[in-house]
Amino acid sequence: MKIAFTMDDLPLWPVSYPPAGYTAEGIVASIRGALKQHSISGVYSFSNSWPLLKNPEFSKILDDWVGDGYYIANHTHSHIELPDVTAEAFIEDIDAAERHLAPWLPKAPLKLFRHPLCHWGETPEKLGDVNAHLQRRGLTPVDVTSWAYEWTWNRAYRNALDAQDEAAAEHVKASFLDFSAAQLRHDMAAAEAWFGEEIIGITLGHNVPFFADIASDYFARLKEEGAVFVPLEDALQGPAQRAVGSVVLGEFVVLQQKLAAIAGRPTPKIPEAQVAVHARIVEMAMG
Ligand SMILES: [Zn+2]
Repeated sequence: MKIAFTMDDLPLWPVSYPPAGYTAEGIVASIRGALKQHSISGVYSFSNSWPLLKNPEFSKILDDWVGDGYYIANHTHSHIELPDVTAEAFIEDIDAAERHLAPWLPKAPLKLFRHPLCHWGETPEKLGDVNAHLQRRGLTPVDVTSWAYEWTWNRAYRNALDAQDEAAAEHVKASFLDFSAAQLRHDMAAAEAWFGEEIIGITLGHNVPFFADIASDYFARLKEEGAVFVPLEDALQGPAQRAVGSVVLGEFVVLQQKLAAIAGRPTPKIPEAQVAVHARIVEMAMG
């Protein structure tokens, strides 16, 4: 099982500033440490530039990331979603990120782009306009074939820590390791069934406190499950990559699920044996 790990939203997760006890820089440093520990290379961070205008000192987070041999790619300036704006506004936001991330983008071997929330647009016209612009700019859109909802586990974890409930925090961590392994197997099997061949998967992590604390155990667990981490570049060959940006869909789902949904053969987002676990974490996340 070959997978390429990617990060989204460096330097600062758009939903919230880190809580007490964490900093944006510290979170990313922990994740860098986990990547190094597990010899995972060729990792791209799909980055937004808005935090750099607000907090210019965050440029150090990107400097350190690139200094460790990882790469930065475009994830729009302000993390806007295409359905919320015109194609023109979205294109301007892509270009603004190209300008503001200019110190780091050229250090990557490839010019890559990821749509915020992996949303390719809600009309064929907007999808076409943005695809044409990406092509003009020489940007390759990159999607995700498996994510583990660590942003939901993050909220459950924060609630457990705030309540000083150590047993709950331990449950959140342990359940994530089981869940993420099961989710990866589920997504890899669905992608293989859809594309008719084994693909190199693309997974995703965010710079949230929970992920900083679990990243090393998470990578170790996936390796135990047979995952081999490869550079993202390797995952951009083959049928999965050719399908990126090819359909219009309103749902927040991974690549092969978008294609299957459009074809009228939707597949389960979460493996059946993990649905109750996920529902319990959603409850804990709501507090
Ligand atoms: Zn994002």
